[in-house]
Order: sequence, then structure tokens, then C-alpha cells
Amino acid sequence: MSELRRDPVTGRWVIVSKERETRPNDFQFERAHILGREHCPFCPGHESFTPPEVWALRQGSDPNGSGWSVRVVPNKFPALKVEGTLGRMGEGMFDRMTGIGAHEVIIETPDHARTLASMSEAEIARVLGAYRERILDLRKDIRLRCILIFKNHGAAAGATLEHTHSQLVALPIVPDCVREEIEGARRHFALKERCVFCDIVRQDLADGARLVAEDAEAVALAPYAPRFAFETWLVPKRHDARFEEASGPELEGLARLVKAVLQRMDRALETPAYNLVLHTAPFGDDVRDVYHWHLEVLPRLTRVGGFEWGTGFAINPVAPEEAAQVLRSVRV
Ligand SMILES: [Zn+2]
Ligand SMILES: [Zn+2]
Ligand SMILES: [Zn+2]
Repeated sequence: MSELRRDPVTGRWVIVSKERETRPNDFQFERAHILGREHCPFCPGHESFTPPEVWALRQGSDPNGSGWSVRVVPNKFPALKVEGTLGRMGEGMFDRMTGIGAHEVIIETPDHARTLASMSEAEIARVLGAYRERILDLRKDIRLRCILIFKNHGAAAGATLEHTHSQLVALPIVPDCVREEIEGARRHFALKERCVFCDIVRQDLADGARLVAEDAEAVALAPYAPRFAFETWLVPKRHDARFEEASGPELEGLARLVKAVLQRMDRALETPAYNLVLHTAPFGDDVRDVYHWHLEVLPRLTRVGGFEWGTGFAINPVAPEEAAQVLRSVRV
């Protein structure tokens, strides 16, 4: 039987179709391929293939040479650039904006063959630390409003280079996904004087049916109305609207959960393509009590078709309670 479910944060409806018993291996997988490193711009020794680095974790080595463990460079083909002034343009009813912003690539490891799931917890924590450093630096630019960090793993998720990396975009506007979450979180707060994400964490810890993993710092859970099969959210236990305010131990805890979730997905779903998205509060917005930063892991197991584009409804063939149960029962 199908069921319409409403996301408690955004109010977005999702169709959870439990018509047939779907097993993880019923999906047509597109595997992530690891190809040659000869021409890879992210491998050590190829630093001159990228624009000069904006940040790197190095122990004494010179900038733009090898000897780094995490390296951040501007995207060679940026969607947006930090230059010029911010201005609104328009043609009648149509709004436009100058393409101001930043588009950076976070090269997560010098090792071409690693994946985020196969990196150690300490290595993943260093990548999360790089995210934090870049946000702290970019938020000094008053023209920027919002930072989105995401990762495309596998061709089906939009990855064009095999060498594991994440991307950062800094925008002069707040993207719809974040705005919808903030508006929903504001509505919840106005009604209950509590953060909706804290409420979700509390309920799912008590209930357990959608819980995937937990440690002292954060919780991994299948959301009540997931848009994607096996969608998993990683939510810190301590309420904070901004990722860049996270402490060292919080990032270490989050790194443990990132590894646990990705490893479980790799085992249960045979190394699926996925997107990983960091949602954190826009700069300058007073949403300290209302919003709660989090990571979303979105496996790409099914394709989006006309029904989804036309109606805006996601169809998800796996109930989150079942997905959580599958991921929990994986041996890692
Ligand atoms: Zn490489
Ligand atoms: Zn909260
Ligand atoms: Zn989110």
C-alpha cells in the first residue's frame, strides 16, 4: 500500500510506495568507477593542474606542491566567482543577479583510490575540519549569504572525476532547499518554542524504528518522509544552527557516523552512487534557536521521472523504517 507522508521540517509531501516488497538488490545500480590517476588533477604531483590552492593541510611542505593531506582549490570551471559587486538586474518581472560567489573543490585525500567510506575516522574528521575552515574564512565576505557543501559520489550522482572530493559553493542568496527548511523550522518554533530537528532526534532516539546509528555527539536516522530510498540524515545532538561552530570532538563524532553510515550503505546497497549535502544556517540570519545544521546522505538508487518533476512529489519505494532496519543490521 502507498502512503503519503509529510516532512515535519519543510512540509513537503512524499509518496512512500510499499506496493511491492523491495529488497536492496532490486535496484539497478550504477557503480562508482575508479579510473586512472595519470591525468587526474587531484593527485599529488599534479598540483599545477588546478588553480593555486586557497587552503591546505600540510606539515611543512610548500603551497601548491605535494605533501598535503587535504587540499582546497577554486573550481576550474566555477558556477560562480568572487569578483565585482553584488547587484540585482531585471527585465520586467524577471529577476537576475550578478554571478557573485565562490566555487571550491575540497580534495579529501592525496590517495586516488580511496573513497570517503574507506578513509579512517581521523581522515574524515580532517575533511570536515577543512569544511569548517573554509566557511569561517568565506563568512568574512559580507556579499555572501549562504554556503552549501556537497559531494557527488559516482556517475549517477553527478561525479565527473573519480578522485574523492567535495565541493563548496558560496552564494549571495539563500537556496530554496535551505529556505524551505528554515521556514518550516520557524513555523515549528512559533508553535512549540522548540527546534524541530531537536524534536525529531528526541522522538527517533526514543522510538528507535528509524535510527541507523548513534554516538555521543550525533545521530544518524532515516527521516520520516524521505525523498530517496535509504536517505539518511546525520544530526548533531547539541543544538546549533551553524556547522562552523562545531567543536573538534563534535567533528570527530560526526566523522565516526559518516564512516559508519557510508560503510553500511556500501555493504547493504553494493557501493551506491550518493550525494552528501551539508545544510547550515545562512550568514547574518538570526536563526540561532530555530535552525539546526545537519548532513544529508542521499543514495541515488532510482531515477527521477516525469511524475516527480511534474508534481514535485518524490516517490520512494522503501519505507524509512525498513531502510533503517536494513542499515542497522549490516555487519561492519
Ligand atoms: Zn587522483
Ligand atoms: Zn535543534
Ligand atoms: Zn537539510
